[in-house]
Amino acid sequence: MVVGEVAIETDVVIIGGGPGGYAAAIRLGQLGKSVTLIEKERLGGVCLNRGCIPSKALIHTAEQFSGLSQLHKMGIKGSIEDAAFDLSRWQEWKGTIVSQLNQGIDHLCAENGVTVVKGGASFLSEHRIGVQTDHDFQIYKFENAIIATGSKPFIPSFLEVDGEFILDSTAILELQEVPSTLSIIGGGYIGIEMGIAFAKLGTKVTIIEMAARILPQISENLVKEVVKKAKKLGVAFKTATKVEKAVVENGQVHLFVSSEKSGSEVLVSDKTLVTIGRVPNTTNIGLDQAGIRVEKQGYITVNTECRTHVEHIFAIGDVTPGPSLAHRASKQGIVAAEVIAHLPSAVDTSFIPYVIFSDPQIAGVGLSREEAVKLGYKVKVGSFPFRANGRALATNESEGFAEVIVDEKSHLLLGMHVVGADASNLIGEGVLALELAARVEDLALTIHPHPTLSEGWLEAAEAALGHAIHIVNKQKKYS
Ligand code: FAD
Repeated sequence: MVVGEVAIETDVVIIGGGPGGYAAAIRLGQLGKSVTLIEKERLGGVCLNRGCIPSKALIHTAEQFSGLSQLHKMGIKGSIEDAAFDLSRWQEWKGTIVSQLNQGIDHLCAENGVTVVKGGASFLSEHRIGVQTDHDFQIYKFENAIIATGSKPFIPSFLEVDGEFILDSTAILELQEVPSTLSIIGGGYIGIEMGIAFAKLGTKVTIIEMAARILPQISENLVKEVVKKAKKLGVAFKTATKVEKAVVENGQVHLFVSSEKSGSEVLVSDKTLVTIGRVPNTTNIGLDQAGIRVEKQGYITVNTECRTHVEHIFAIGDVTPGPSLAHRASKQGIVAAEVIAHLPSAVDTSFIPYVIFSDPQIAGVGLSREEAVKLGYKVKVGSFPFRANGRALATNESEGFAEVIVDEKSHLLLGMHVVGADASNLIGEGVLALELAARVEDLALTIHPHPTLSEGWLEAAEAALGHAIHIVNKQKKYS
C-alpha cells in the first residue's frame, strides 16, 4: 500500500454488472457480505443492454409483423397489406424495456445492500483495486474479488466495424432504418437470429459461413428445419465460403468471398453484420497485478467453484471458457458468491440448456444423438413431429419436432432437443428431467396438459418406448 493511501474496505469487489456480476452481488448481499459492484456502463451487461433482451425484442416484433400475412386465412379481414414497420419507433420501445429492467436491477442491488460504483476498475495488487469514475480515482481493499467483465465481438483484422455500413451485434440493434440488403458474416446463433428477423422485416439477407453448414455445433436434423424456413423467407446461404475483404464504396459494402464451389465473387449489400465469435474482456483490467494468468485466447480458467488459481479471486461468465450464455454466467455468479460465504456450492455444466431464437426455435439440453454415440452409449431416439400436435396446428406453427435421446440399457434420458415454436420455453421441462436423472418412462408416465406443445415430449418419450398414440410407431416396442 502507498503511504497515506485511503482505501475503502469491502468484503467483496465485483468487476462487471452483467448477468454474472449482478447475480453474484445480490446473492452476496443476501448472505450478509459487504459487496461493491463496479460497472463502467449500465447494470445488466451485454445481455440486457445490447444482447439477449434487445435481440429478442426485435425477433418478437419481426415475428408479429411477418405473421400479419397469415391472418387472412384465419378469417381476419382488413388491409393488412398497408402495415409497415418503423424501426426508429421500435428503438424507443426497446429503450423502455431496457430501462425498466435496468431500474429493476438497480432496485434489487439497493435492497440487498449492494454498493454500486459507476467506473472502470483495474487491479492494483492481489487485494486492491482502483476505480476511475467520472470525477475521481478511488481505491478499494477487498478480501475476495469476482471478475465478471464479460466479452466483446471478435472482429478479424481485415474488417473494420464503422457502425454505419459494417456492423457488429451492438450496432445492428441500434439501426434506425431497416436495410434493403444485409450480408451476415457468420452462421452462428446471433447471425441466424438476426438474419431471420431482418428477413421477416423485408430485408434481403445473405448469410456467409466458413464451415460446411450453419450452426455447426447443433445436430443437423434440427438445423434443417430452420434452413428450410429461412429459405422460404428468402434468406440465401453461402456455406463453406470465406470472406477475404470488405470495401465500402458508394454507400454499399462489397464483400470479396471465395469458395471451392463458386470460386471468387463479390457480394454487395447495404449493410454487413460481422458475428463470428466473441473475445473475453481480460485486457486492461490489471490481471498481472493480481497475479492472474489467462489462457491463449484470453480466457480465465476456473474450477467448479469458479476460483481462479489465485485462491481468493473468482471469475465468472463470458471471461471463462465455455458457452457465452447469460444463464451460465448467472449460475457461476451465484456459486462464486456462495463459495465466498463458505457454503458448499459448485457449478455442474452437464445440463446447461441452449436456445436459438430462430424460426422455428431450437433448444436442447444434455447429449445430442451424435455425442451420445461417440461416448459409447447405445441409444434409442424418440421423436414426435409438431404437425401431429393439435396445439401446433391451432396456432399455425406446425414445423419441427421434439426428440429424446435415451440410453438403451438404463432407459435414462441423455438429451432432450426440440425444434419448433416456443422451444425456448419447452426446454425447461427437459432441463428439469435431466437434472432429476429421469428415465424415459418418467416422461412418458407424466400427464401433460392438452392441448399444448409440451405433449410433444410425452409423445417423443412414448415413441422411444414404441407406443406413441398420435403417430404410427416405427420403433419396435421397447421394454
Ligand atoms: P457481460 O454481460 O458482458 O457484462 C460484463 C459487464 O462488465 C459489462 O456491463 C461491462 O460494461 C462491464 N465491464 C467490463 N470491464 C469493466 C471494467 N474494467 N470496469 C467496470 N466494468 C467493466 N445469452 C443467452 O443466454 N441467451 C441469449 O438469447 C443471448 N443472446 C445474445 C444476443 C446477442 C446479440 C449477444 C451479443 C449476446 C447474447 N447472449 C445471449 C450472450 C450473453 O449476452 C452473455 O453470455 C452474457 O451477457 C455474459 O454475461 P457476463 O456477466 O459474463 O458479462
